[in-house]
Amino acid sequence: MLRTALLLAARSDRCRAFVEHSPLTRRVVTRFVAGATLEEVLPVARRLTADRLVTLDYLGEDVTDAGRAADTVDAYVRLLAELGLHGLAGRAEVSVKLSALGLALPADGARIALDNARRICAAAEAVGTTVTLDMEDHTTTDATLDVLHRLREDFPATGAVLQAYLRRTEADCRDLAVPGSRVRLCKGAYDEPASVAYRDRGEVDRSYVRCLRILMAGPGYPMVATHDPRMIRIAAHLAEEAGRAADSYEYQMLYGVRADAQAELAARGLRMRVYVPYGGQWYGYFMRRLAERPANVAFLARSLVGV
Ligand code: FAD
Repeated sequence: MLRTALLLAARSDRCRAFVEHSPLTRRVVTRFVAGATLEEVLPVARRLTADRLVTLDYLGEDVTDAGRAADTVDAYVRLLAELGLHGLAGRAEVSVKLSALGLALPADGARIALDNARRICAAAEAVGTTVTLDMEDHTTTDATLDVLHRLREDFPATGAVLQAYLRRTEADCRDLAVPGSRVRLCKGAYDEPASVAYRDRGEVDRSYVRCLRILMAGPGYPMVATHDPRMIRIAAHLAEEAGRAADSYEYQMLYGVRADAQAELAARGLRMRVYVPYGGQWYGYFMRRLAERPANVAFLARSLVGV
């Protein structure tokens, strides 16, 4: 119920104005968002890459004009150049939302998003790193996978996210369990109808395990994106069962979530990547983080009333 309300609020301009303009929200936002600018996020990336890998996300989604989509591309191109200059590209890649690149534009959105994504992939390739496509709500899954397939023709290391809560995802895992493929498996963060998604947590977890089994047994590179200790234990077991070397898959968590567990996995010599968002357009991302855990809402409420 609370989750649904928060995810609805994530799409409301009224709520956005209220939350964005409260100076006190800022204290909570900084737990999940690493900085407002490139200059702020680079030291965070440098610190984290001492023992972990990172994927950087320039925040933004649902752009409604081609100009803003082009600005997003420029921001990624600048980011990638800086990663190269600072010697971070070997441990840092980028994550991209196609709705920030114009996917939802009424005229030719898919082509615009593909062209924009190509520019980012080329900039990533130039400094020796990769791009992973985030996955948004289920109405965009086919279009995102279509863009992925087309990008992989020129940039075969491009990765994508699959969401275990979608009923279709087991089949998508089978399609993407191919050599060179990089799949980031998460549970899913949007409010999806029962017609397309499992809504019961147990069902989502069981789907996550089925998907993970397919990816671990396949020839691709699975990226286990979860904070759930049980899923992490099962991933380790499935990796062992599949005879995988420690560098043939990785764990991933979000910036600001279970940092102790991140450090522990890294200290065990496992590949651990942190998803690090930055930029001014944090509202939608932040609301999804609140929706994931009721305790985060209490934390925000306390900060809004100044306690
Ligand atoms: P849960 O069962 O939700 O959580 C397990 C435990 O983790 C909780 O008990 C709690 O201790 C901790 N935890 C989880 N979330 C939070 C939080 N927000 N704040 C504090 N503690 C928390 N979703 C998409 O739909 N599309 C994407 O492209 C996408 N990309 C992602 C990339 C990465 C690297 C990760 C880690 C997640 C991504 N997600 C994405 C979000 C994902 O779908 C889940 O909503 C989120 O990870 C919570 O699920 P969980 O697997 O951690 O399990």
